[in-house]
Amino acid sequence: MTPSPYVSRINQIDAAALDVEIYKLLKDETKEIARYSAPGKFDKWQTEIDVILKILIWKFSLQHGNSTFGQRLLNLHYANLNQKKAILYLLMTVLPQYVKDKLANENLSAYGGTAYRLKSFIDRISNVISLLQLINLLFFLHRGIQPRVIELFLGLSTQSITTNKPRNIGYSYMTRELLWHGLMELFTVGIPMINFHYLKHMLRKLWWCRTVQQRDVKLLPVMDLSTKCVYCEENPILPSHADCEHIFCYYCLKAHFSAMNTFHCPKCDMKLYSDNMKRYTVATNTSNVTVLSLKGPT
Ligand SMILES: [Zn+2]
Ligand SMILES: [Zn+2]
Repeated sequence: MTPSPYVSRINQIDAAALDVEIYKLLKDETKEIARYSAPGKFDKWQTEIDVILKILIWKFSLQHGNSTFGQRLLNLHYANLNQKKAILYLLMTVLPQYVKDKLANENLSAYGGTAYRLKSFIDRISNVISLLQLINLLFFLHRGIQPRVIELFLGLSTQSITTNKPRNIGYSYMTRELLWHGLMELFTVGIPMINFHYLKHMLRKLWWCRTVQQRDVKLLPVMDLSTKCVYCEENPILPSHADCEHIFCYYCLKAHFSAMNTFHCPKCDMKLYSDNMKRYTVATNTSNVTVLSLKGPT
């Protein structure tokens, strides 16, 4: 296959981004190895470790081949890379960053004023490089070649290894992601809307085929220290009741009545109506001795 001179902009940007990601991945792995060692032991060598990583990446990509790992993943390569340019590429990627990191981590007061001047000089240079990168990116978007400043300095041009054909993108994973997110949304929005209590009651009724007789004599609720909300089985907060003798928290009952007008008491299975919902007061039941205090004995 003859190499094609045309490489799309997106492929070139992706190759550069992949290179950065591969470097970050390796850096994270080295940090993971050093995680359980004594603190500060590896940190002081971090700058040197970074340099070694960059040299290793360069050794296995540009020294013997003519493409970076990111380019290799996208079937690209440098058309005019020679040994001299490869070494310059390494020096330009490693040295400025190394000097900058070293000066940033070092205690400069021991070296006097020269070190501070050097640091501010290096900072200025790195600012200029960042600005150049931005300008170069704008030029790259216009011209479509050399997305990295280093490529511009060394006059490197990218070529495609395969013939010029549109980029193949597998959409299957995107479909899977979309489906998964759709399902997640459905569950998070839909599940809270299902009235599980009602469903449970209906199933139980179907299962045992029993009908609950509505009692003519209504029992009034009685509350004492041991009374629990029959729905959440906790001490009832703002005790309330409807038609049966059981006590509920205000919110346990109100939440059900805001979904449906009827509710089946989980204990006696009686059908309760929202119109009959009342707050529990001592006056509710005058024939029984009621204790309103929910506090335990001191
Ligand atoms: Zn409750
Ligand atoms: Zn009840």
